Amino acid sequence: METNRIWLSLAHMGGHEQDFIRQAFDTNWVAPLGPNVDAFEHDLETFLANNAHVAALVSGTSALHLGLILLDVQPGDEVICQSFTFSASTNPIRYQNAVPVFIDSEKDTWNMSPEHLERAVKDRIAKGKKPKAIIPVHLYGMPAKIEDILSVANRYEIPVLEDSAEALGSMYKGIHCGTFGEIAALSFNGNKIITTSGGGALVSKKEEWVQKARFLSTQARDTAPHYQHSQVGYNYRMSNIVAGIGRGQMQVLPDRVEQRRKNNQYYHQQLSGIEGISFQSEPSPDFYSNYWLTTIIIDPEKTNGITREDLRLVLEKANIESRPLWKPMHLQPVFSDYPYYGEGISDNLFEKGLCLPSGSILTEMDLERVVNVIEQELKNY
Ligand SMILES: *Cc1c(COP(=O)(O)O)cnc(C)c1O
Repeated sequence: METNRIWLSLAHMGGHEQDFIRQAFDTNWVAPLGPNVDAFEHDLETFLANNAHVAALVSGTSALHLGLILLDVQPGDEVICQSFTFSASTNPIRYQNAVPVFIDSEKDTWNMSPEHLERAVKDRIAKGKKPKAIIPVHLYGMPAKIEDILSVANRYEIPVLEDSAEALGSMYKGIHCGTFGEIAALSFNGNKIITTSGGGALVSKKEEWVQKARFLSTQARDTAPHYQHSQVGYNYRMSNIVAGIGRGQMQVLPDRVEQRRKNNQYYHQQLSGIEGISFQSEPSPDFYSNYWLTTIIIDPEKTNGITREDLRLVLEKANIESRPLWKPMHLQPVFSDYPYYGEGISDNLFEKGLCLPSGSILTEMDLERVVNVIEQELKNY
């Protein structure tokens, strides 16, 4: 009997995380700053290269929120956002009482369509309101068509806030995701490619912005012996304990990327021959995905009516966790009243797509088990 549960994406410790935490205890650096925070930021800067500066924060969501604040997003401003994403890309727009404008995906990367982006920018400007920022996402680790997005952004002089929460280790033309936008956000939540249990970071080539993020994330204290404040501050800084986990995880990040890519390759080899299954895959050698999650599309017209939900339930019965793709933001009750520019690509992805177990911690036997269940279901009819 196969009873152990196979999860979608679990934390995978490298082994040295507790050494860094012990150091923090031994030196009594149990605070929302300290040597582990500095060193973790340094490790990330070295990894990302491309002159990136990094501020370690409590979450990816807080990084996106501070990003919008640095870009001066005010109540009533419009911010363009990829619709096909996790709600954390969009919520910070509403924290600022700004208005999200959603953009559909394109077929190659499943990320923001540069064509619909340009159409939206023109239309918003014609309606009298130039968007304050553009939030593209590298979903499931797949780099967006960032060159085309940046060229629209530059043409209309709108800054890009890159949501790279799922894409640490992904690259476009050899350059790391998270270093393309004016500002970018990373996440180290429990299920991401590396984790600090919970955490995130703000990235920018502009060092003054990263310093400003550190300032705002520690309650915006002016230099004075007493507590003096000229701005509204936030309690968003990463703790020295959490950063210790991050330092341990940075030692194994390249291995984690390699393993997730291997998982993806395995699924591809085993399943791409089955009629009705297709993959999110790199459109050209310019794209290098960390394949945080391996995702498939099930086309019921070619599977004799078997849907992604049928497949999900069959996997669940075999004690295997899988999950529908992100439900687009323009379809979410909380965001459905905001403008949307698209043609139903992301609606279709949501309807037919499934995320397969993809953790770096999975064994070959785990992957075989998943493949066998899918093969049996789809070859049965
Ligand atoms: C995880 C995630 C976030 C938020 O990161 P947290 O660290 O969980 O706050 C933002 N955007 C995307 C696309 C994510 O997957």
